[in-house]
Amino acid sequence: MLTTSAADTADVVVVGLGVGGESVAGQLADAGLDVIGIEADLVGGECPYWGCIPSKMMVRAGNLLAEARRLPGLAGTVEGVVPDWRLVAKRIRDEATDNWNDRVAVDRFVGKGGRFVRGSARILGPRHVDVPGVGVIEARSALVIAAGTGAAAPPIPGLAETPYWTNREAVAVEELPGQLAVIGGGAIGCEIGQVFARFGVRVTIVEAADRLLPLEEPEAGDVVAEVFTAESIALELGARVTGVEHGGGQFRVHLEGRETIVVDQVLVATGRRPHLPAEERAALGLGGEPGPLPVDDRMRVTEGVWAVGDITGKGAFTHVATYQADIVVREILGKAGPAADYHALPRVSFTDPEVGAVGLTEAQARARGITVATGIALVPSSARGWLHRAGNEGLIKLVVDAHSDLLVGATSTGPAGGEVLGALAVVVHAKVPVAALEQMIYAYPTFHRGIQDAVRDLRAAQR
Ligand SMILES: Cc1cc2nc3c(=O)[nH]c(=O)nc-3n(C[C@H](O)[C@H](O)[C@H](O)COP(=O)(O)OP(=O)(O)OC[C@H]3O[C@@H](n4cnc5c(N)ncnc54)[C@H](O)[C@@H]3O)c2cc1C
Repeated sequence: MLTTSAADTADVVVVGLGVGGESVAGQLADAGLDVIGIEADLVGGECPYWGCIPSKMMVRAGNLLAEARRLPGLAGTVEGVVPDWRLVAKRIRDEATDNWNDRVAVDRFVGKGGRFVRGSARILGPRHVDVPGVGVIEARSALVIAAGTGAAAPPIPGLAETPYWTNREAVAVEELPGQLAVIGGGAIGCEIGQVFARFGVRVTIVEAADRLLPLEEPEAGDVVAEVFTAESIALELGARVTGVEHGGGQFRVHLEGRETIVVDQVLVATGRRPHLPAEERAALGLGGEPGPLPVDDRMRVTEGVWAVGDITGKGAFTHVATYQADIVVREILGKAGPAADYHALPRVSFTDPEVGAVGLTEAQARARGITVATGIALVPSSARGWLHRAGNEGLIKLVVDAHSDLLVGATSTGPAGGEVLGALAVVVHAKVPVAALEQMIYAYPTFHRGIQDAVRDLRAAQR
C-alpha cells in the first residue's frame, strides 16, 4: 500500500531506497521504528534494475557464447554458435527487473511496517525534507541520505546533444547496434563492451588512461586487453575524445591525433556523480562543493544525519552500501559494533577473465610509503590453468608490506578470478601472516592454488 500523503513526521526518514537505503529502512522498520522511505524512481535502485543484476545476466550470456566457441580442440566441434540477444533482453525484462517494476520491493518495505513515499526529496536541513505533492517531512531522530549516484558524462564537445547511452539504455536494449563505441574502459565499460562484442557487435573501447581497468593493477588490465584484442574488440588506449557528433543515424567520435570512429551507438561509461545538489549540501552545513558526502567511520554526516552507499564515495559497490547500512542501523538503534573499515575492500570486474581485487594495489601501497614486496603467478603456468587451456588467461598478484610481512592487497585475474578473491580477501581482512600462507595446504589442482605459487614468487624475490 502506498502512502502518498505521509504523516509529515517519523522517527527515521530515508532519502533514496536503493540497495543502501532499502536495507537501512527495512531493518529499522523491522525493529519497530516509525520509518518513512522516499524513492524518486524504483525501490532497489541501480543494482537490480540497471546495474549489477542485469549486467551480470548479460555477462553470463556472453560467457556461455565464449565457452561454446572454445569447444574446438578440447571437447568437439561447433556447428556455428548463433547468438540471440532477444533471450538476454527477455531475461532482463522478465526475471531481473519485472519490466522495471518495483511493486514487490515496495510491498516488502510496507510489509515491514515502513511508510513509503514515491517522490524526489529535497533536503531542507538535518531534520527536514520536502517532497513535491507530499509536503515537508520531519525526521524526529535520524535522517539517512542514500541517494546514490547517476552516470556522469564528461564535458566532451557535442556529446550532450547526442542520443548517447549510459548503463541504463545499455542494459535495457532490445536490439543490438551493429557498431558501438564505449567511452570509458573501467569495469562497466569493459563488462558491457565485451558482452556486446560476443553477441556480434563491433566494439571499440576508448580509454584516456594507457590501459583498461585503470584503477586496478596494470598486469590485470594488460591481460584483459590481450583477451579483448584476441576477441576483435578495438582498443583506443591513452586516447582523448575531442568531440562527438550525431547525424544520419551515426555517431562520429573524434579522437586527438587518431582516426575518427564512426559507429551506430555510443555508450558513456566514464564514472558516476552523487545525487546531491549543492544547495542541499549547503542545507546540511557542508559547503557547496560537489562530490561525495563526507562521513565519519560511523557513517555520520552531521548530528542526526547519516549517509550510506555510493553517495559516500567509499566504493561504488552494492556490498559497500549494505555493509554501511548495517553500521547505520546499529548506530540508530544504539547497538555496539565495529566502525567502518575499508582496508580489505573487495571488488570484481566481471570481464572474462574476471578481475578480482582487494585492498591496495602496488602503486597505492607505494604512494602510502609502504615498503612493498610483490609476488606474481600466471594462471596458464599452474596445473589447473594449463589443463583448462582455452580461456585460461590470468594471474595472481600479492602486494605485501615487507616490514610486517602482511598482505595489504591482492589481485586475482582469471577464470573464477572473483571466487579465488574470496581467499585473498580473508587474508587481507584478517591480517593473516604470509608465513601462514607458506605453510597451509592448497587443494590440487585448483585455481586458488596459484596463491601458493605467488607466495613462492614473493619469497624468491625477497631472497
Ligand atoms: C552497470 C553497473 C554495474 C554494476 N555492477 C556491480 C556489481 O557487479 N557489483 C557491485 O557491487 N556493484 C555494482 N554496481 C554498483 C551498484 O549498482 C551500486 O554501488 C549500488 O547500486 C549503490 O547503491 P546505493 O543505495 O548507494 O545507490 P543507488 O542504487 O543508486 O540508489 C539510490 C536511490 O536513491 C534514489 N534517489 C536519488 N535522489 C533521490 C531523491 N532526491 N529523493 C528520493 N530518491 C532519490 C534513486 O532513484 C535511487 O533509487 C554496478 C553499477 C552499474 C551502473
